[in-house]
Parts: sequence; C-alpha cells; structure tokens
Amino acid sequence: MNYQIPFFQHDLGEEELESLRRVLQGPILTTGKTVSDFEALFADYMGNRYCVAVTSCTGALHLSLTALGIGPGHEVITTPMTFIASSTAILQAGAKPVFVDVEENTGNIDLSRIPAAITDRTRAILPVHLYGQMVDMTTLHGISKKYNLHVIEDAAHCIEGVREGVKPGQLSDTACFSFYASKNITCGEGGAIVTNDKSLAERLKLLRHHGMNKTAADRHVEGYRHWDMIQFGWKYNLDNLHAALLIPQLKRIESNWRKRQAIADRYRELLEGVAGVRVIGIPSPLTHANHLFPIRVDGSIRDKVVQKLINQGVGVVVNYRAIHLLSYFSEQFGFKAGDFPIAEKFGNEVISLPMYPNLPLSSVERVVEAVRTAVAV
Ligand SMILES: *Cc1c(COP(=O)(O)O)cnc(C)c1O
Repeated sequence: MNYQIPFFQHDLGEEELESLRRVLQGPILTTGKTVSDFEALFADYMGNRYCVAVTSCTGALHLSLTALGIGPGHEVITTPMTFIASSTAILQAGAKPVFVDVEENTGNIDLSRIPAAITDRTRAILPVHLYGQMVDMTTLHGISKKYNLHVIEDAAHCIEGVREGVKPGQLSDTACFSFYASKNITCGEGGAIVTNDKSLAERLKLLRHHGMNKTAADRHVEGYRHWDMIQFGWKYNLDNLHAALLIPQLKRIESNWRKRQAIADRYRELLEGVAGVRVIGIPSPLTHANHLFPIRVDGSIRDKVVQKLINQGVGVVVNYRAIHLLSYFSEQFGFKAGDFPIAEKFGNEVISLPMYPNLPLSSVERVVEAVRTAVAV
C-alpha cells in the first residue's frame, strides 16, 4: 500500500542511534546496566518503586500471573475488547480467561459486571486501559480487596494515563507495558512490568531469566562464580540494545504526549460536524494517554469505510474485533455471537485513525475530510 497518511510513524532518530552506539562500544549486549538504567527511569516516570524490563507485554502479563501463583484451575476476569495478548497470556499461564462485557462509551471492562463473574476459582482481574483511557482503578481496587483478588493491568496503551491521581501499577499488583513497534515508546519489540512490591519484583527478575540466580552481566562484574537454577523460569529478559533505544524516548514522552493530545483535540473538533461518526467518550477527571484515536461508524458500513479510507491513502486499522468471536476462542470455549453484545457492537463499529506525534494537523484535516466522504456514500 502507498499511504499518503500512514497509520503510524515512529520518531526514532539520532539520539537513539547515539544511545545504541554506546552499548555497541561496551562489552555487554544482553541484560546489563543499560537495562537497569531504563528500569530506574521507567519506574520513576510511572510512580512505581520497581520495574522489570522484558521482551514483550505478552511476556510481562504471563510472568505477572505466574509470579502471583496463578495457573491451572484458576480463572482470570478480563475484557473481550482488546488485543488477543491480554487473554493468550492467561492461557499461557495455564489459567482460564473469563470475559465480562464492556462499557458502551469507553470500551473498557464494565466494573459493575465483575462481581457476577467471580467464582471460587477466580484469582485475578486483568483490566485493559483501552486506547489509553484508564479504567477506574480506585473502584476496581475496592472490588479486588472485597473479593481478595489480584489485579494485573494491561497498560500497553497507557504509559501516560492518569485517573484521579492514580497511574497504572499504583493500585494493583503489577501493570504491564509494551514497547512493540507502534506503541507510544518503542524498541521494535519489548515490554516492562512495574510494581510497588519488592518481593514480587525479585521473583519477576528470577522468572524472566530461567530462574537463574546470576546473569552474564554479573559474571562480567564479579568474574565467574557458579550460578544455580533455583526455580523454573522463562527467557523474557530485555537486552541492553533494546533498552538503549528506549532511554532517549523517555525524555520526549511528555512532549510527544502533548503533540498527540493536540491531534486528538483537533480530531474531536473537526469530527463533531460529521454525521454518522462518533468519537469515544471520556469521563473526567482523567489524563488520556492518547495512544490510539478510534471513531465509531454504523456496523453495516464499517468495513466499507475502512476500504475507502485505505483507497484514499489514509492508513486505518481496526482495534479490535471482540476476541471471544475469533476462531480459536469460539472453537475452544464455545463462545458465540450475543455472548458479550456491547463488545461485539463496539468491535463491529470501531476504526482507528492515524495517530502519532509528528502527524501534521493539516493531515488530521485531510483524514477527517476522507472520513466525511467515506461515511456519506
Ligand atoms: C500491543 C498490545 C499487547 C501486546 O504487546 P506485545 O509487547 O506485542 O506483547 C497487549 N495488550 C494490548 C492491549 C496491546 O495493545
């Protein structure tokens, strides 16, 4: 496809190259000081005490569940309106995802429906801050305390989000982030876990690296000492090269957020006058991370509108079709149309428009004109 206005463009450049060069000039390519520097900076930005950097958000979710003792025989309550990874991580841990329908105006998990989904096998709630709009973690925290459940946040869209003074991770066991190619900060593939729980952070560090009590970087500092495998673990450690790409982006995170906020404001302003298009609501008080800019159109024309926009050179995608109706989930678990009607309707109507810090406001105007034309016919 030849997009005049692509769906996403990263903004990595000279600073990232310089940061990479410094790692290449040193001896440690794998997990070492660059990773721990990133972890300290990211924990600080997120207002959490600890950060454990890993190779993906999927891995971050899987490790969080496992480190909290969640596995076979357990259920985890989550949303069907998300990327599949929120649920495949639960399956990787050996537990069962239990879906709860979403709020009509945000697409986030409907907290009022959670109590009815709790059974004696439920161990955790896994909310997703869809598009960057935070779930009401204060209310969710109340529910999790009342029923004695863990909370693991899928904050892949929500590095910069704040709600009632609360950031991801601050009222839960862990929050998990993605640095996948199109996320707000990126190293191609990467992820992180933040937590305020010291012993949990230590378990996560062991579990991300084979359950080994020493790393290659330790050998470089201390010389060779026998290491031990003290637990069964996985191979999810982020390396210095990827961490090097992330560090400079943390310095730009607020200015890039402000640019996306201006884009979102402009989209909202211009779309107000477009018949047949709804923007997705934002309850206040809240700082939206503005990861994606989704609109909703009538479900009967959505796929045609997507095609027309692409034909006009505007990069759009669908985030997401309700995951319980994807072949694997419906075949494995017997889900069918009508099980989570609000998520299904949402997933049939939503379209994500181009959104990234360096998208010119003139392009925002062109996108909205293209949407107006596509919806009208
Ligand atoms: C991107 C994404 C993930 C997965 O992130 P990876 O780093 O690719 O594993 C999980 N959940 C949501 C909501 C995402 O958008």
